Amino acid sequence: MTFDRRDIDGFFINGALRAPSSNERIDVIHPANEEVVGSVPKSTPDDMVAAVDAARRAFDDGPWPRTPPQERAEMLRAIADGMEKRVDDLAWLSTAQTGMPIALARQSHGLELLRFYAALANDVPWEERRRGMSGDGLVRRTPVGVAGLIVPWNAPSLLMNKLPAALIAGCTTVVKPSPETPLDTYVLAEVLQEVGLPPGVVNIVAGDAAVGQQLVDDPAVDKISFTGSTESGRKIMARLAGRIGRVSLELGGKSASILLDDAPLESALPVTIAGSCLNNGQACIALSRVLAPRSRYEEVVDTLAAMVGGLPVGDPFDESTFVGPVVNAKQRDRALSYIDIGRSEGARVVAGGGTPPDRDKGFWVQPTVLADVRNDMRVAQEEIFAAVISVIPYDGGDDTAVAMANDSRYGLSGAVWSANPQRALDVARKIRTGTITVNGFIYDIGLPFGGFKQSGVGREWGLEGLEAYVEYQTINLPEGL
Ligand code: NAD
Repeated sequence: MTFDRRDIDGFFINGALRAPSSNERIDVIHPANEEVVGSVPKSTPDDMVAAVDAARRAFDDGPWPRTPPQERAEMLRAIADGMEKRVDDLAWLSTAQTGMPIALARQSHGLELLRFYAALANDVPWEERRRGMSGDGLVRRTPVGVAGLIVPWNAPSLLMNKLPAALIAGCTTVVKPSPETPLDTYVLAEVLQEVGLPPGVVNIVAGDAAVGQQLVDDPAVDKISFTGSTESGRKIMARLAGRIGRVSLELGGKSASILLDDAPLESALPVTIAGSCLNNGQACIALSRVLAPRSRYEEVVDTLAAMVGGLPVGDPFDESTFVGPVVNAKQRDRALSYIDIGRSEGARVVAGGGTPPDRDKGFWVQPTVLADVRNDMRVAQEEIFAAVISVIPYDGGDDTAVAMANDSRYGLSGAVWSANPQRALDVARKIRTGTITVNGFIYDIGLPFGGFKQSGVGREWGLEGLEAYVEYQTINLPEGL
C-alpha cells in the first residue's frame, strides 16, 4: 500500500490555517504497519486560546447565530455536498489513521447527519408563542453559545454526531480531535472554506488531554460535548461544575447481547459478532457481553468460537478484511492484558487470545472469545475496547438475564433475541440502556442515541440531539403584543 502522506502546517482558526505556536510536530501512524501517514503541528494551550477567541467573537459579533435556520440549513447541505466529493479521501484517511476496515470507513462520514439536521430546520419551532398560566409568552430555542466538541480517535466521523446539530442551532464551535486522528478534519476545513462558512464558526485544534482541558476550563466556552472514556468524562464534568458549564457526555459501554432460550442463533450469533467486532472492537456500542441460557450454552460457545476463529483478520485496506489492527500499542497492550486477566479469573479462551502469528509490525489483537465468564469478572464489567467477547451463562428465566444485563455500571447499547419478538420486546423494556434492538443491531441517526448510567449524559441524533445545543429563552408578553 502506498500512502499519500499528509504533512500539515497549522490549525484551522478563524476561517484559515493559522501558524502553530510551537515547532514540535506529531507523526500520525498507520496502525497496521506503523508507517507514518502524515504529520501535524503539536498544539499547545495557546493555540486553543486563539481558537476559543475566534469562536467567541464569531458568536458575539458574527452573523452565524443571527442567520435564519433555513439559511444555516443551506450551508449544512453545501458542506455535505463538499464532503461527498471527497468520500474516497476521507475513507482512506480513516483507515490510514485508525485501521478501520475500508469497507466500513467508506460508509462513515456523517454526511447523512448534516442532511438530517438541515432538513430538521424546517420542522423545529425556533420561536413559539405559547399560552402560559397568566398570559402569552414567546418560547425561543436560542443557541447555547460557543460549543467545545471533544472527540476520540476510534471513528473520525464521531465529530458529525455533534457538529451538524451545533451548527443548525446557531452555535459557534471549537473542535478538538485526538492527536491520533487529526488529518481528516483538515479535509473538513477545506470544505468549510470552499462553501464560505463565516470565519470562526468552526475552529479545529487537534491535541492531547491537556489541550482538551484548556478548552474545558475556558470560561468563554458555554458548552462541552464530549465523546470518550467514562474516566475522562468524569473529570470534565467535575471541572465544569465550578462555572455550571453545560455538558453532554457520550462515554463507554459494556453492552449485552441477550439470547433468550428460543433465540434464533443462526441470525443472533453472526449479528452479535458483527456488533462486537465493529471497527476492530473499538466501538462504544460493541456487544461485548453475550448472555446465553445454560440449556444452549455449549452450542453458543462452540458456534461463536468457530465463527470468530474464522474471521478474516488483516490489512484494513483490503475490502474483505473484517477485523484490522487496534489503534496503537497502548490499546493492544491493554486488550492483551484484559485477556490475561480473564484467564486468571477462570475464563476459557476458545478463540483468539493473542496476536496473529504473521504480524511483526503494527498493533494487532486476534478477535477473541472468552467462555465461562461470570458477570462479576472484570472482563464482564470493564470496557476492553478490542474484539473480545465474553460469553456468560445464565440459569433461570428471562428475569435472570435482565438482572445480569442490568448489573453493569454502563448502559449504552444492546440486543435481545427470541423467536417471539413480543417476548424480546418485554425484555428490552426492562433493560437500563440507551438503545437496544429486538432481534438485530440497528443504529438510526433519526432516533436519539446516548447512555444511561455511566455511559453518558444527554443524547445525540434525532430531534433530541439538537437539544444539546439549545438554550430556551422565555419572553413574557404584555397583553396586546
Ligand atoms: P479518552 O477519554 O482518553 O479521550 C477522548 C478525547 O478526549 C480525546 O480527544 C482526548 O484528547 C480528550 N481528553 C482526554 N482527557 C481529557 C480531559 N481531561 N479534558 C479534556 N479533554 C480530554 O478516550 P479515547 O481513549 O480517545 O476513546 C475511547 C473511549 O471513547 C472509549 O471508552 C469509548 O467507549 C468511548 N467512546 C464513546 C462513544 C459514545 O458515543 N458513547 C463513542 C466512541 C467512543
